[in-house]
Amino acid sequence: MAKQHPETKAIRIQTNQTSQKEHSTPLFLTSSFTYESAEDMAAAFADDSLEVNIYSRFSNPTVDEFITKIAALEGAEDGIATGTGMAAVFSTFMTFLSNGDHIISASAVFGSTHTILTKYLPKWGIESSYFDMSKPETIAALIKPTTKMLYIETPSNPGLDIIDIEYVSVLCKQHNILLVVDNCFATPAVQQPIKFGADLVLHSATKFIDGQGRVLGGVVVGRKELINPLYLFVRNTGPSLSPFNAWVLSKSLETLFIRMDKHASNAMQLAVALQNHPKISSVKYPFLESHPQYAIAKKQMSNGGGIVTFELKGGIESGRKFLNALQMLSMTNNLGDSRSIASHPASTTHSKLTEEERKSVGITPGLIRLSVGLEHPDDVLQDILQALDKS
Ligand SMILES: *Cc1c(COP(=O)(O)O)cnc(C)c1O
Repeated sequence: MAKQHPETKAIRIQTNQTSQKEHSTPLFLTSSFTYESAEDMAAAFADDSLEVNIYSRFSNPTVDEFITKIAALEGAEDGIATGTGMAAVFSTFMTFLSNGDHIISASAVFGSTHTILTKYLPKWGIESSYFDMSKPETIAALIKPTTKMLYIETPSNPGLDIIDIEYVSVLCKQHNILLVVDNCFATPAVQQPIKFGADLVLHSATKFIDGQGRVLGGVVVGRKELINPLYLFVRNTGPSLSPFNAWVLSKSLETLFIRMDKHASNAMQLAVALQNHPKISSVKYPFLESHPQYAIAKKQMSNGGGIVTFELKGGIESGRKFLNALQMLSMTNNLGDSRSIASHPASTTHSKLTEEERKSVGITPGLIRLSVGLEHPDDVLQDILQALDKS
């Protein structure tokens, strides 16, 4: 068969079909698998490879199908799937970092990732350093002989900071450091970090990959030699993905490209429409020319993604009023849903941090994060405009 486009692969890769010849992919909702003989069973346990299904904590055909699809879209050899995005992050840290090692991370990373780096890794003697996403030239000075991993999220949550993956990967290769990229905000439909030299790419599949706010999931992809130890970590410690969630996520991938196109075109329209609003001091979106890393966004992303942020001139109080005035947009913590969502990190997800700490991770008092959904963009804009009037 001719080489297929990623859009086609997202729809047509299917590794499972039963004797019923069902058209939609089957769901193997089973905890374990049976054997023809004691010898077969013994052989299954003797062989640590991924080929024989033993128990769904180790592997499951539905989960494997989801992994195969994501790996193909990211241009990776192999992958592992986990129950949540955080399980993917934590499994990656635990597999590749040991007592005495050092990790360098962007300071602007997902809240729980930051918590693992600052509160848990030190318990096992793993040290971390942080850099400002807008100053990648400061990374080199942080590298030590014990540095094993560099961790970035681009675009970052919620600051939408962007970093040149290729630049960072060159630096990592020079110093034999693993480059791990959280690609959750872009998805492989928009950005494939492996093309730019990333070693491992991970996702919270809970977000745009599911796309409808139904299930939690996570995935890590990369070269086989890196995935094998990760696989053994997940198999033995148990953060495995449920087959049911894998089935939902696999079906979701069929619409990933068309959804990301629409999320991005709606988000772009909204970002442009809000740019000169009197209540807003600034709008941030990767494909707006005013984004500080616009040129890098254009280089490594095929569109600007589905997240837009803006800063309310009225600060924290104004943010609260804005949320309360919304009539259609959902007030919820998730993102990447077909339904547009607004959140105000300073009064919710990051309310426990001090103002100074919030600032260091890119969260200002009046910052509103919009996950732009798939509704008609005029309806989304209209709700935002009427809420801005009351904010
Ligand atoms: C949500 C999110 C995570 C964590 O994923 P869960 O599925 O909620 O565990 C990690 N990274 C980013 C960028 C996220 O948005």
